Amino acid sequence: MHKWVYMFTEGDATMRNLLGGKGANLSEMVNIGLPVPQGFVVTTEACTQYYSDGEVINEEIQEQIMEAIGKLEEVSGKKFGDKGDPLLVAIRSGSRASMPGMMDTVLNLGLNDEVVEVLAEKSGNPRWAWDCYRRFIQMYSDVVMEVGKKYFEELIDEVKEEKGVVADEDLTADDFKRLAQLFKAEYKGKVGEDFPADPRVQLMGSVKAVFRSWNNRRANIYRRDHDIPHHWGTAVNVQEMVFGNLGESSGSGVAFSRNPSTGEDKLYGEYLTNCQGEDVVAGIRTPNKMELMAEDPLLKDAFDEFNVISKRLENHYKDMQDMEFTIENQKLFILQTRSGKRTAQAALKIACDLVDEGMIDEERAVSMIEPRNLDTLLHPQFDAVALAAATPIGRALPASPGAASGKIVFTAEDAKEWEAKGEVVILVRMETSPEDIEGMKAAKGILTVRGGMTSHAAVVARGMGKCCVSGCTEIVMDEAGKKFTLGGVVYKEGDVISLDGSTGNIYAGSMPTVEAEITGELARIMEWADKFRTMKVRTNADSPEDARKARELGAEGIGLCRTEHMFFEADRIDAFREMICADTEEERKAALDKILPMQQADFEGIYEALEGEPVTIRFLDPPLHEFVPTEEADIKKLAEAQGKTADQIKAIIDSLHEFNPMLGHRGCRLVVTYPEIAVMQTRAVIRAAIKVQADRPEWKVVPEIMIPLTGEVKEFVFVKNIVVETADAEIKAAGSSLEYMVGTMIEIPRACLTADVIAKEADFFSFGTNDLTQMTYGLSRDDAGKFMEAYYDTNIYDNDPFVKLDQVGVGKLIEMTVSLAKPANPGIKIGICGEHGGDPSSVEFCNGLGFDYVSCSPFRVPIARLAAAQAAINSKEDGNKIIHG
Ligand code: PEP
Ligand code: MG
Repeated sequence: MHKWVYMFTEGDATMRNLLGGKGANLSEMVNIGLPVPQGFVVTTEACTQYYSDGEVINEEIQEQIMEAIGKLEEVSGKKFGDKGDPLLVAIRSGSRASMPGMMDTVLNLGLNDEVVEVLAEKSGNPRWAWDCYRRFIQMYSDVVMEVGKKYFEELIDEVKEEKGVVADEDLTADDFKRLAQLFKAEYKGKVGEDFPADPRVQLMGSVKAVFRSWNNRRANIYRRDHDIPHHWGTAVNVQEMVFGNLGESSGSGVAFSRNPSTGEDKLYGEYLTNCQGEDVVAGIRTPNKMELMAEDPLLKDAFDEFNVISKRLENHYKDMQDMEFTIENQKLFILQTRSGKRTAQAALKIACDLVDEGMIDEERAVSMIEPRNLDTLLHPQFDAVALAAATPIGRALPASPGAASGKIVFTAEDAKEWEAKGEVVILVRMETSPEDIEGMKAAKGILTVRGGMTSHAAVVARGMGKCCVSGCTEIVMDEAGKKFTLGGVVYKEGDVISLDGSTGNIYAGSMPTVEAEITGELARIMEWADKFRTMKVRTNADSPEDARKARELGAEGIGLCRTEHMFFEADRIDAFREMICADTEEERKAALDKILPMQQADFEGIYEALEGEPVTIRFLDPPLHEFVPTEEADIKKLAEAQGKTADQIKAIIDSLHEFNPMLGHRGCRLVVTYPEIAVMQTRAVIRAAIKVQADRPEWKVVPEIMIPLTGEVKEFVFVKNIVVETADAEIKAAGSSLEYMVGTMIEIPRACLTADVIAKEADFFSFGTNDLTQMTYGLSRDDAGKFMEAYYDTNIYDNDPFVKLDQVGVGKLIEMTVSLAKPANPGIKIGICGEHGGDPSSVEFCNGLGFDYVSCSPFRVPIARLAAAQAAINSKEDGNKIIHG
């Protein structure tokens, strides 16, 4: 019989895939003797089984869950539904990679009308017992039966209003009792049946709800953003309840063993007394700083013990920990530990500090940094001068760093809508809930009135690398009126504000930003990464400026210079249009002669910026109609220059129209019809190289000429012959000994299928995975976005294949290409220059196939360097493989 359920005592930290991160760590903590309430884990496999059984928990799994309840009853000495000593449990999700706040939790399970009376009497604290019961009905209704939370919140507000009180703390045992009755009536009204009294029914309903929550919309979005596959599933943790809401000697909190924003080696946490854990992260009450606990005589001992445990866990896992705890009548319990989410700055500091403290080695430090996270460091901050001159209008918690200016919106929906219209927005909310995730994504920055550093807004924004300032309690909010008041000034929807997520400052109006640079800890980590990395990292750059930026960020060459971008510039587009609209070869050549010196100057600038590192220049790729004028004035101008009428020009433009330009007259096909284009581009490339080589004899300039969109070897050879003939003539005429290479992009499936033949003719292959994905899927790269949401919602696709390489399909073509090409031409250089070249999992895939390099946009170069290092480390038997997410 398959084992679907593990007691905590049967698991350990290595069983993360099966037990989920939370379950594996709870088991590990039980094993090392920490104060953890007992419980068991329903495995991730049970979750995938639930889905393959058509969203039902099969008999075998149900039996094993009930068996585990029996064992839990034995060790706790309590019983489900018992009139003497009832067992209450908490149900929590926990997948392999942590997904804070994305899935569901049910607390206080096991309560019913009778059990609540037992607890009230036994504890001598009826207020607590009824508070637990009403919380349970509320959570169960919301999570299991999907009756919205708001109905229950409205009832609480009504009772408070009747009594003339504002805070939950002012409600009495009788009030909670009344609320429990009202909640049950609400449940019956909405669900159509009585609230379930049997703890077994409550338990199965809750386990099922957690499985179901794996597939909710916010979890799906989170997974897509964090590269977490849908098929992993979530485990369910069932754990004996401990209570933080038993009075002032009880409480709950969340703490990090080091500061998750700055990385400082100091416990950083928040807690509330007399509450349950959800209250701390939900952002409804603003929690206290952890240090205050040390000053509370009732909680001081628990605080001291927590400090010791925090260090012990950090030493045990060799990483900064994010821990949840509850204190029940002064006794401390640890409810969770995991590697803490952290800002990019904190990640780098912590990794370097742990190396300096001798806790980890450089290899592990490199593995610990999530490559995607570096993005935040590489993005703009506010200009220091403007910042010094500005006066903040308010200040709150620096929840997630970065700088953002934008127009105020008050709802997630508005954020999405405004962003779709091209507006840059700041989402201002009382507090965010996980349902706001899409709005948070659409916003440039997030500002909340309530909530601490561990609230959902903070955790999710940090994970997204999005600037967030939270807990600005001075704001007087008028959500319905779409305005707020801060410092006596009213800010309305559409007004511009700026947020500094690194200091927590809020400013009126917008502020200029400056670009980031690699210094300090980032440079250290990058240096270590480069030691482990075997694959080169190049950049996609079309101008000397971008090339220089990329070099600063560590690019070791250019993997793709898209020459068409050079034609779009104002002074060239006219000459280029003349070329397109030429009637004769002579006219065309005359126009190209005008462009040649401009192209040559571009290439010289790029070679200089690259200081002898390799430069791959791709010849003209897009269809010609993209360049022709659309404005009347431009058409007239062109007609005059060509000695033609406007109608003649329009007729030429019409003749260039294609029904499917992506599959039309583009790439090498342009050279087959207009060889003069390749002649001009070859001359520009070779003349520039000869010049820069002569100026800088210490460099070795070897241009790599790349032909786009090859599908047939004869087509490639046709273009190559033009290039070679032209280049050799130029080199000979200059008396130079310049070397150069001619290779092709691999972006048409037919090129993959015939790679052995093409490889014999090519010096290098570079995978253009944008087009290769488009053509393998038959999915337009320009239009797919319009309907992809439906594919994510239905779980047909986990990710956008244009962002994350489809290793199953497109990857198979790539693999096949490499294995056909290498034997045919053992010296062939292989790289990738599609957008996937900067995506960490795609980089790992390329590393696995022995690519010489990946090439990506300048700001992604450090990400690719780190990802390439991690790929090299992961490929070693004993490598420090770490699951990020
Ligand atoms: C590609 O197709 O992957 C590529 C790099 O070329 P482009 O994006 O310019 O079509
Ligand atoms: Mg392409």
